[in-house]
Amino acid sequence: MTGMTSSARPFLNRRLAEFGTTIFAEMSALAMSTGSINLGQGFPDTDGPEEIREAAVRALRDGRGNQYPPGPGVPELRTAIAAHQKRHYGLSYDPDIEVLVTAGATEAIAAALLALLEPGDEVIALEPYYDSYAASIAMAGGTRVPVTLRPEEGTHDGVAHRRFRLDLDELRDAVTERTRLLLINTPHNPTGTVLTRAELTEIARIAVERDLLVVTDEVYEHLVFDDAEHVPLAGLPGMRERTVTIGSAGKTFSFTGWKVGWVTGTAQLVTAVRSAKQFLTYVASGPFQYAVAEALRLPDAYFTAFREDMLAKRNLLSAGLADAGFGAFRPAGTYFVTTDIRPLGESDGAAFCRSLPERAGVVAIPNAVFYDHKEAGAPYVRFAFCKRTEVLMDAAERLRKAFAH
Ligand code: PMP
Ligand code: GLN
Repeated sequence: MTGMTSSARPFLNRRLAEFGTTIFAEMSALAMSTGSINLGQGFPDTDGPEEIREAAVRALRDGRGNQYPPGPGVPELRTAIAAHQKRHYGLSYDPDIEVLVTAGATEAIAAALLALLEPGDEVIALEPYYDSYAASIAMAGGTRVPVTLRPEEGTHDGVAHRRFRLDLDELRDAVTERTRLLLINTPHNPTGTVLTRAELTEIARIAVERDLLVVTDEVYEHLVFDDAEHVPLAGLPGMRERTVTIGSAGKTFSFTGWKVGWVTGTAQLVTAVRSAKQFLTYVASGPFQYAVAEALRLPDAYFTAFREDMLAKRNLLSAGLADAGFGAFRPAGTYFVTTDIRPLGESDGAAFCRSLPERAGVVAIPNAVFYDHKEAGAPYVRFAFCKRTEVLMDAAERLRKAFAH
């Protein structure tokens, strides 16, 4: 409800008027009130490694981080972030001036856009886009220009393989004199698309040619499956000096409630982002920062096991959705699978998701909320598979009972 005084001017300013309650809050509330299995909001139903939880407890008990940590983040964590970028991608960042700790990736996105945009600047984002992008662009006074990922049929190892693809010509054509920034997300929420090295190389070429800044949200960097590879944009030619890279411990270590995220980039870019960040939260998550520093140094075995666990879950839920009659896309990354509900005789994903708790006792997210071109997203529905195996099996069985003939 938009409040008003007698002057009839709405309380909520017009930049934010189009944004109601985020779909994640709405759908998690629906799951609670109907007792449904929540495959909507993307959070794991088991916590990350015990030793990392213990590291947070130790930090709390030892009085590390209980008072305001330094604005850019505690040195232990900044050093660990820089070491992570070096170890996994060979990218070098100076922990003192090229790394910034944020209150989750959400704050990193907001701070980057608030820092880098002037009112009226255009931002190109891949549609469907994660919902905070649109709101953060709006808060910064920018104009979003969506480039739509299109469904494509194919095969992978002889298995039908539907996925969403970026049309690079469309991206190139979307750039105007007013374009300031490309907002990229790979692995991509909600489609599960992982941009290939060839696609990213072309994106980099466009950014260099048109002298654009790039903000790249790589929070699912460790969740890539099959033969997909995560390629950080910042490592491609000409990109280091124009790219702000964003990561999150919420996704990589299954502690979404800790809200520890980070930014890496050149000192100039990080200084700009910090200028906005310091007036949003100043700092956050004191003791958790120490624990995430330990998490980032976990051996490769952790990252491999995490990926393999999610891969098995992807396969389990995808098979269940196909059995129930959904058209399931094959996500190459993230912990989401996007489905097409038209094979079920349905076409309106929003109405479908509202009725799903009653029909099947399951909650999912209508992809249309991530689109400006609502009609392009209407028949798609996203399910999260970052849940315990028995929960996914139960959900698959409920969906099969409700929809398979
Ligand atoms: N970017 C993407 C693509 C996401 O899916 C999410 C949701 N986790 C975020 C950013 C926000 O991450 P955080 O919880 O660290 O704020
Ligand atoms: N990133 C999570 C998702 O896409 C949700 C984050 C949130 O609730 N804001 O489901």
